[in-house]
Amino acid sequence: MSDCIFCKIIRGEIPSKKIYEDDEMLAFHDATPQSPVHFLLIPKRHIRNIMETEAADVFLLGTLLYRAQELAKILGCEENGVRFVVNCKKDGGQTVDHLHIHVLGGRSLDWPPG
Ligand code: AMP
Ligand code: ZN
Repeated sequence: MSDCIFCKIIRGEIPSKKIYEDDEMLAFHDATPQSPVHFLLIPKRHIRNIMETEAADVFLLGTLLYRAQELAKILGCEENGVRFVVNCKKDGGQTVDHLHIHVLGGRSLDWPPG
């Protein structure tokens, strides 16, 4: 999508601190990190949110989550753990309408969220 921030990052029109990239997905550090490790993993295809996925996306969703935990381990979160977050729409706190998995680690996180 032409005016989507994350699509612009994928196209290289906005700079990002890239962690991982393949044909289907991209991982980059969050611009406003909420923990020592905070990166986003996004599909390259513009999908607005997790509720707009289809049955045909099941493999992609599984691959995103699998890659997220692999990258979390590489970034040093294996011993103490990590949190994977997918915000969805207004009540879920989603501010960028391009599906993304937050990966937060490197400190102890509160629960439940406020
Ligand atoms: P959400 O509130 O779940 O939609 O999360 C959107 C996330 O994208 C926030 O944590 C932002 O800090 C992050 N973000 C927004 N713009 C950028 C950008 N240009 N580069 C990296 N992260 C960004
Ligand atoms: Zn997009």
